[in-house]
Amino acid sequence: MAKKRSKTLYILCIDGMDFDEVNRLGLGLDHNNKLTVPEELHLHGRPWTPNVWPSIFTGEIVIHPDTHKMKLWGPRDWMRTQLVKRGITWRRKGFKIYRKHERTGLDMEPRNTAWKKCVDKTVLDNYNSFIFDVPSITDTFAFRGPISNREYWNWFIHFVYLFKNTNIYNVIVLYSHLLDGYAHRMIDYTKLYEKVFQLATDLLDVGHKVMIVSDHGTVDGEHTLFSYLGCSEPINATSVLEVRQDIERIMNDG
Ligand SMILES: [Zn+2]
Repeated sequence: MAKKRSKTLYILCIDGMDFDEVNRLGLGLDHNNKLTVPEELHLHGRPWTPNVWPSIFTGEIVIHPDTHKMKLWGPRDWMRTQLVKRGITWRRKGFKIYRKHERTGLDMEPRNTAWKKCVDKTVLDNYNSFIFDVPSITDTFAFRGPISNREYWNWFIHFVYLFKNTNIYNVIVLYSHLLDGYAHRMIDYTKLYEKVFQLATDLLDVGHKVMIVSDHGTVDGEHTLFSYLGCSEPINATSVLEVRQDIERIMNDG
């Protein structure tokens, strides 16, 4: 008797996707949960990207070893935390409008890798998995200017379609930072939200399992306190630390 082939689980990691914004835009998957982010994973009063991603995929509190480099000097750190907690956006440089040639210069900045892999093993190592660009999980994440960031968005979409008709991997994990980048710059991100769900729906159409997960929301230029988890399968997680259990259960169900 032929062995039953289990479906591939796609995990689309969307930095900055906010649960309430998903609702407001009328989007979502079959199952949608709002996740809390433990305060240990915060920096300056808000969820801190390089801490949240490895915590999602290990189910444990992980503090990226480079986090201390980002800490502000004592009183500034305290001030920022207080402002941000009260919903006041902190801007180190204020608004700056770049002229076109300056902007081009910024976009040409050399690739600057950041938030290198800081965990030996994640839940993803238990499966035959393909992982693209997740901060702290891979060594490939880089902060990028608006144009090169968009280039990686194209890679993200390209990978989704590339893997759509294959079953080489059990789990495919793709990360994009573009939405967070737009939200920090207060650029309209509606189309990016729509595109993520459109990609997810296209995958569901061919009978795969799909999960969309974020590390926090980003709205009005600042991180929000909650993140988003959506899935084609039932999910139980209410904290980012419980996503791992959902991944394991979904994989065991085959
Ligand atoms: Zn983030």
